[in-house]
Amino acid sequence: MAAIELRGLTKVYPGGVKALDSLDLTIPDGEFFALLGPSGCGKTTLLRTIAGLETATGGAVVIGGRDVTRVQPGGRDVAMVFQDYALFPHMDVTDNIAYPLRIKKVAKGERRAKAEEVAARLGLEKLMDRRPGQLSGGQQQRVALARVMATQAQAFLFDEPLSNLDARLRLEARTFLKKLQRELGVTTVFVTHDQAEALAMADRMAIMEAGLIRQIGTPSEVFQRPANTFVAGFIGSTPMNLLDAVARGDTLEVAGCKVPVPASAEGLVVDGEKLVYGVRPEYMTYQAGTVEGGLSGSVVILENLGASHLVTLDVGGVTVQGVVAEGEEPALGEQGAVVPRSDRALVYRDGELVAA
Ligand code: ATP
Repeated sequence: MAAIELRGLTKVYPGGVKALDSLDLTIPDGEFFALLGPSGCGKTTLLRTIAGLETATGGAVVIGGRDVTRVQPGGRDVAMVFQDYALFPHMDVTDNIAYPLRIKKVAKGERRAKAEEVAARLGLEKLMDRRPGQLSGGQQQRVALARVMATQAQAFLFDEPLSNLDARLRLEARTFLKKLQRELGVTTVFVTHDQAEALAMADRMAIMEAGLIRQIGTPSEVFQRPANTFVAGFIGSTPMNLLDAVARGDTLEVAGCKVPVPASAEGLVVDGEKLVYGVRPEYMTYQAGTVEGGLSGSVVILENLGASHLVTLDVGGVTVQGVVAEGEEPALGEQGAVVPRSDRALVYRDGELVAA
């Protein structure tokens, strides 16, 4: 087991695409770390560069205190699970799981015993004679995991390992994978473009944009206090309200209404300056009528979220979303206000969070 450290890591592909732009990141021993970001931001490149499948054009990769930047993949002692699982179609489950041990020239009996032990842990023991083509997607995923576990690597690297599973299996696999990682305690880096998955599974995560890390934090840090408007807009199942605002004393003028300066930005805003006011819909409660300290307008859309409804208001031409408890939803066209929780509202200046 080992910490992974990236120092000024840069990758420029032939042709000039800068996929990684001088990244610094330390993932402590035993951590479950997610890499999250939109398509093309460099997640897969980062994972492949840690694995040694891509060569860094600058900076260093350090695993367990050893600089492995110039070390071949086989010498890095990390194991990677690919999106398509990369199982050998002509080998049965036992041979697939034992394959890395065969490469390491482990004796046949020992290979078999290890494959069986790992397979039992993943509930695969009845499938050992099958080939990948005779397995479901979820079973193939477990075989791919078993193969990685059998190697006893210092770190696991997962590239969207759940993306081929249907929604239900994916949820099950999420819980399963997290439990397994806890039990094994192996440093794990996990790439996903699904923010709900990253929030649910990771100890900490990095949000990437165009080869840069825009924030590193625990799921709750990233959700509650996005460091910039990019992360604020990217994280959350309903996007954060990000509204143009002007500071006026201890209030902000937003869409023609007045709301208090959020607790996090008290004393930090300058009268008259232009800012962005950010509040998640989950922290904006709908009330009928005009409410002081709220954003008042007319209800244009109602969406059922189960235990609550998402309410979309037109506030003087600006779209603002909040929530209302199930059973209390307003009629379309009704006049009402969404009232922010001041301890959950945020302010951004030039795209960056304003907070002490
Ligand atoms: P996705 O979520 O779509 O898989 P990603 O975040 O994993 O995306 P990468 O695959 O790391 O992104 O790609 C980062 C950037 O590098 C993209 O602009 C991509 O087009 C480019 N890129 C990736 N591989 C190569 C390559 N072999 N040669 C040139 N450019 C590449």
